[in-house]
Parts: sequence; C-alpha cells; structure tokens
Amino acid sequence: MTFWVLLQLMILVLGLCLGSFLNVCIARMPEDRSIVSPPSHCPRCAAKIRWYDNIPIVSWLLLRARCRKCGHSISATYPLVEFCTGLLLLLLWRRLLPGPTYMDLPHLALFSYYLVFVCMLVALTFIDLNHHIIPDEFSIYAVPFGVLGAVGLARLDPPLGPGWQQSLLGATLGAGILLLIAGLYWLLRREEGIGMGDVKLLAMIGSFLGTFPALFMVLMLGSIIGSVVGIANMLLARGNMRSALPFGPFLALGALMNLYFGDYLAERLILGLLPPA
Ligand SMILES: [Zn+2]
Repeated sequence: MTFWVLLQLMILVLGLCLGSFLNVCIARMPEDRSIVSPPSHCPRCAAKIRWYDNIPIVSWLLLRARCRKCGHSISATYPLVEFCTGLLLLLLWRRLLPGPTYMDLPHLALFSYYLVFVCMLVALTFIDLNHHIIPDEFSIYAVPFGVLGAVGLARLDPPLGPGWQQSLLGATLGAGILLLIAGLYWLLRREEGIGMGDVKLLAMIGSFLGTFPALFMVLMLGSIIGSVVGIANMLLARGNMRSALPFGPFLALGALMNLYFGDYLAERLILGLLPPA
C-alpha cells in the first residue's frame, strides 16, 4: 500500500472520529449542555460508554444498535453522522489535494479551513432538522473565522481560498439578501418566512465560499432543492402546513455541492444561461 493511499485512509478515520464528536455537539448544543463533560453515557441508564463501545460505526453494528447495559435502542443517526463526516472529509481531501505534489503547507491549510466548514455544515444540518434552530457557534460566530482564514490563506504562496474581499462581501451579502427577503415577506404576509438562523447561516457560508458565483449558487441550489423536497413533503403529509421543513439543511447542502462541484456547476448553470461569446 502506498503512502498516499494510507494517508487517505487516515483522513477517512479522522473524519469518522470527528463525526463521533459532532454527534455529541448535535445531541447537547441545542440543550445548552457542555460538549466536553460529562463523558458519553446512555440517556436511559446513564451507564458510561466505554471506549470499545464508542468506535465510530463499528460499535453501533457490534452492539446491534442497543445499549450494552440496559438494551435501550441507539438511533441510526449516530453512525449516519459518522459515515457522512468520514466520506465528506475523504472527498474534500481528494478534491483539494488531488495528488502527492499538492502536499504542501498552503494546501494543508486550505484543507483544515474547509474541514471546519464541512463539520459545521454536518452538525447544523442535523440540529436544524431535529430542533429547527441553528446554533450561533456554527453560524454568526464562525464568520470572523471564515474572514480571518480567508485573509491568511490569501497571503500564502500560492494564494488560496476565497480571498478576503470575496469573503467579507460574501458574509455581508449573505446576511443582507436573506434579511431583505425576510423583510419583504413580513411586509406582505405579516409573518416570519425566513428565520434569523438562516440569515446568520448564509453569512457564515458566504464568508467561507466567497460571493461570486458561490453565494448565488448556494442560494439558488438551496431554494430549488428546498422547494422540490418541501412540495413533496407537503403532498406526502396531505397538505399539512405544520410539517414545514427548515431551510438551513438545504443551504448547507447547496454549500457542500458548491464546495465539491462548484466549478462544474458554475459552468453548467450560470455560464450556460449566457449567450455564447
Ligand atoms: Zn443504557
């Protein structure tokens, strides 16, 4: 096995372990509980989960989705979050460092920058789906990190990342556009159409991906996929408007699609609309 393949395997394992940590964030952050202590325990019998019962995906399969002590069922969301995080980080590595010649400090810095971004998107997606809230830690509080990271990455040789002007403008416009839509919606309907969580989330996404074309692509993809899934969900729920879906996961999905296939999508979706030169 070559060093390069072994390295990618290590990235996958790192992703699985980070996914395990994200599970703690997803379970505890909406309830304002500490993500550091106490250590992981069964929610029913409070038995401490030993390290060998806490191995990503493997333990869930070996325990057949049950607590070793009391038999309380363990949600399939846990291995799902671990699997998603592991796969996304492996694909991120392969996208940003396509070969051993890319193994330098600037590209490793770029990978670390977007590693944080992807982890926040995974965690907030599951939190928003479960609780219809997006923690500030993963949205507005992360904007300075996005902008400062862009400043740092732009000073490297070669310069990487979205660039600080794009990052700053992306954060401002991201919040601005959704605030404008939210304001118009309120004027017309006198009810909240877009939550402040989504406004803060798009500011964070803009700060990491930049403004053009990324921010607009995220908004477009999020709206299109969100509408299709929303209509399907409404039809399945037989017109029950109370089953409305949160918008955050669709913005997060749009951001991931942009990060992984942005160049391809921009070529097909935006340049395809322009008349041929
Ligand atoms: Zn238990």
